[in-house]
Amino acid sequence: MTTDFEQGVSRAADLIAGSRRLVVFTGAGISTESGIPDFRSPGGIWTRFDPDDFTIDKFLTTERTRKLQWQMFGEGLLSDGAEPNAAHAAIAELWRLGRLDCVITQNIDNLHQRAGVPDERVFELHGNMRWAVCLDCRKRFPFEEVAARVLGGEEIPDCPDCHGTLKPDIVMFGEQLPVRALDEAARHSIAADVFFVIGSTLTVYPAALMPQYALQAGASLVIVNLSETPLDGRAEVLLPFKAGETMQAIADMVKAKLAG
Ligand code: NAD
Ligand code: ZN
Repeated sequence: MTTDFEQGVSRAADLIAGSRRLVVFTGAGISTESGIPDFRSPGGIWTRFDPDDFTIDKFLTTERTRKLQWQMFGEGLLSDGAEPNAAHAAIAELWRLGRLDCVITQNIDNLHQRAGVPDERVFELHGNMRWAVCLDCRKRFPFEEVAARVLGGEEIPDCPDCHGTLKPDIVMFGEQLPVRALDEAARHSIAADVFFVIGSTLTVYPAALMPQYALQAGASLVIVNLSETPLDGRAEVLLPFKAGETMQAIADMVKAKLAG
């Protein structure tokens, strides 16, 4: 195993060029270069907000928590104005080159799709901030419209149709993951022959099971992450560098290999 940048990039590009099914798994770390803070790095979201306030139980039972959450989401703290960065662009490039099976993401920021990976090829384990959902009639509404009401002074927006409880359509702590996305993610992880982890501490379950499924099924693991993960010892290529420059270098090299 190597942690040299040039060698690692070259090894990773070789793996992609020779792969049949490349699956990319991403976490908050792929979006920090877009200006969205991750959760666990210094300066991350949990140094400003208390994670105990973001459980589904508290959202449903405590008015103070519901106000606080709508305030945070309404301000667009998680993704307002963020643009896809070089890492998202590189993954979209791999898709255009016909080298990518799918993306499995823990992120809710929609940046893979905005970079050009088709919606049906992005399995979102934790939902997406594009929508708010009514817990009573299950109708979904564009998040922007709801956020505008919050910014306009409504502390707890209700469902425009049935006046039921609106919730951002993202998975909160203690909440079930969307069944279909989870099933598809597991299926694609097991079928992968090359599996990339980018920008995740691999500590949030069940999302963190995906690279384990891939390993058990015999895939080669590549990890692009600034800090350590529990699977570093299992990686064929370990790239502890910034996702943007690393993925761009890898995609460039794959492109050159396929052309030459
Ligand atoms: P995490 O915050 O636990 O870990 C992020 C990892 O990315 C860290 O190991 C960090 O060292 C690394 N990292 C940070 N910047 C990097 C960069 N430029 N290049 C390479 N690596 C970098 O994130 P997680 O594992 O995704 O778990 C946090 C949970 O928070 C997820 O479940 C996710 O749903 C949610 N979340 C999502 C967003 C988003 O949608 N953008 C943002 C914050 C949190
Ligand atoms: Zn409703």
